[in-house]
Amino acid sequence: MLKNKVALITGASRGIGKGIAEAFAKNDANIAFTFASSVEKARAFEQELALKYGVKVIGYQSDASNYNAAQELAEKVVADFGSIDILINNAGITRDTLLMRMSEEQWDQVINTNLKSAFNLTKACLKTFLKNKAGSIINMTSVVGVTGNAGQANYAASKAGMIGFTKSIAKELGSRNVRCNAIAPGFIETEMTAALNADVVKGWVDTIPLKRGGTTDDVANACLFLASDMSTYITGQTLSVCGGMLM
Ligand code: NAP
Repeated sequence: MLKNKVALITGASRGIGKGIAEAFAKNDANIAFTFASSVEKARAFEQELALKYGVKVIGYQSDASNYNAAQELAEKVVADFGSIDILINNAGITRDTLLMRMSEEQWDQVINTNLKSAFNLTKACLKTFLKNKAGSIINMTSVVGVTGNAGQANYAASKAGMIGFTKSIAKELGSRNVRCNAIAPGFIETEMTAALNADVVKGWVDTIPLKRGGTTDDVANACLFLASDMSTYITGQTLSVCGGMLM
């Protein structure tokens, strides 16, 4: 589905990003991915993907929350791969606590890593998309960006911001054949959610109509659809991948 396409995926050393990178490589895309600090994991993944699927794969250590680093990254990816066709703004963190206890640092870290990063990377890739007169941008938001969640004011605000950003970019760039959509995962089993205690997890699962947490493949398959030419008339949308949690 993605033959000869170049995908830039932020935060793909583990979790959802890793699942997306694997699904895209399986569908013949060349993969540029980033990570924050997992150097060994990233190097091993780079080799594994390239060997398994015979595509070009490079992992870059690059802080998505840093504007200048994003500009440098996009330049490097274009130099290494020739172009960028798909951008997945996936890198994200949580710093959960009630507002009463939330520090300014916890607020800023989450907003910068989850939301400012989407601005940084989208802006950095813009020149290439406009030159190509094509592009697909996918922003990883969350169901809590729509519903809100106690203890996650910073995270929910960052994810709600991403939805507004997605719709605005879809309106700005639609005439240039650049699409921008968001995916809102529900409860997906990754290291991010492994930190939650068993009672919290059971509480989440009980509220999900499909009665299970999602897998990284569930999210990756939705990304594959939105990245590919299967969705050329879809832009500005938020697709929930949440087992029916959000209706
Ligand atoms: P995860 O397992 O914690 O993985 C996070 C990834 O982001 C890692 O590759 C990490 O790199 C990278 N990262 C973190 N900060 C970064 C930065 N400043 N610059 C570049 N990369 C950075 O998370 P996940 O569960 O896969 O979540 C992925 C995305 O889906 C996030 O945006 C999250 O908010 C969203 N999401 C997840 C769920 C869920 O249930 N898991 C639900 C809804 C939405 P290192 O390995 O180097 O740290």
